[in-house]
Amino acid sequence: MTDKKTRIVIVGGGFGGVFTALDLTSSGDVTLISDEDHFLFTPMLYEYLSGEVEAWHIAPAYKELLDENVNFVRGEVTGIDLDTREVVIEGHKNSVTYDILILAVGGVTNYAGVEGADRHAFPFRKLAHADRLRSRMVEALDHIPPSLPPQDVHRALTFAVVGGGASGVELSTKMADLLRDAFRRRALHGEPRVMIVEMSDRVVPGMGDEIREFVDKALLESRVEVHTETRVVRVGPGAITLEHAGVQTEMETAAAVWVAGVRPSPLVEKLEIQKDRRGLIVVEPTLQVRGHENVFAVGDVALFEDVVPTLSGTAQLAFQQSTLLGRNVGALMAGQKLQTKHFVELGEALSLGTERAAVLAAGKVLSGALARQARFAMYTSRLPTWHHRLRVGASWFFEGTSPRPLQPLGFQR
Ligand SMILES: Cc1cc2nc3c(=O)[nH]c(=O)nc-3n(C[C@H](O)[C@H](O)[C@H](O)COP(=O)(O)OP(=O)(O)OC[C@H]3O[C@@H](n4cnc5c(N)ncnc54)[C@H](O)[C@@H]3O)c2cc1C
Repeated sequence: MTDKKTRIVIVGGGFGGVFTALDLTSSGDVTLISDEDHFLFTPMLYEYLSGEVEAWHIAPAYKELLDENVNFVRGEVTGIDLDTREVVIEGHKNSVTYDILILAVGGVTNYAGVEGADRHAFPFRKLAHADRLRSRMVEALDHIPPSLPPQDVHRALTFAVVGGGASGVELSTKMADLLRDAFRRRALHGEPRVMIVEMSDRVVPGMGDEIREFVDKALLESRVEVHTETRVVRVGPGAITLEHAGVQTEMETAAAVWVAGVRPSPLVEKLEIQKDRRGLIVVEPTLQVRGHENVFAVGDVALFEDVVPTLSGTAQLAFQQSTLLGRNVGALMAGQKLQTKHFVELGEALSLGTERAAVLAAGKVLSGALARQARFAMYTSRLPTWHHRLRVGASWFFEGTSPRPLQPLGFQR
């Protein structure tokens, strides 16, 4: 393959796709296709929900990030012909032809077949999802008259967060803090109810005891109810049915938010390539799709074995893989030997409400307000491109990162 003319097509513009495109700007003819017009720094979607950060901070447009040598095509890829090397995009007359293909389409919410969940639960993976959830929180608050008795308020303002992993903890503490702040501002009686529903016997099951202590404390301080060993059996419009110790209970909810699982993007299901039982693409240690030398997979869709187990399905892994991938695409074009790498944890950071966080680095945990600042600083350094990092860092430093209250509709910014 000759470098200049090699057509490299990247499908998906998340952590794996964008960081690879940034690495490949001076190689071949690079095209990035995404169904969104922006990248999303998902670890701060909770701060977008609370208004601590703005959309442009965490979701810069591809046009702002990508070098002018990279072609950006907006559209949903609906099919890929691996024999003719063509990518089909919804609504586009012509398909896009590639010499090298990179699959970086990430995952979608996995409702695990729970009745009604795909129709009635709120997903939380995109900016639009956070906007919808915030509007729902405001709408639910707006329906509470100040004279409503506390027990009725509690029932009408029940928010269930399904899934007690890191996402469930981060989201529930953020929602609880925001709602309680709104209660004070609106002089409402009683308190809102935010609950986590988790199937296993504890929250954040994949995390070490060092950080768990801070998670438990934050859940207590934010008054999040934790229901472990509890399964969601049904989600309806405004109601959720839980099962604990064989007993089912239905309760009214203002919203049930589903952060309990991820499955590969539906595009991957259509591809006739080797996958594991979860539908992940089997890749070689070089990130090449097994049996397809010119096709690579990265991030949440790839089954990469040489990695510490807690890293699978994380932005940290997709980000680290993109560097290896950039190098290997270059090596393939130059006819050189492709490399592999063992990936390790870069540290953990959890947002725990609007005022605190916990950061685990080099075996030490930092917590509270200082950890919140450290997390902002750490994430500034992981945003794509120096230019964007500088703009965002300056904005957070000079303009601050206070949450935006859940004002009544009509008073929203
Ligand atoms: C709310 C939330 C918080 C998270 N927090 C953390 C965290 O703190 N730390 C951490 O390490 N990980 C975190 N993660 C996980 C992390 O976001 C993923 O592991 C990471 O984004 C995977 O990168 P990716 O490139 O594989 O996929 P993604 O980043 O999901 O990117 C996939 C891209 O492909 C696009 N796409 C999908 N299908 C198509 C199609 N058919 N055609 C065109 N485009 C398509 C999508 O729109 C998206 O832009 C979080 C995830 C979420 C949802």
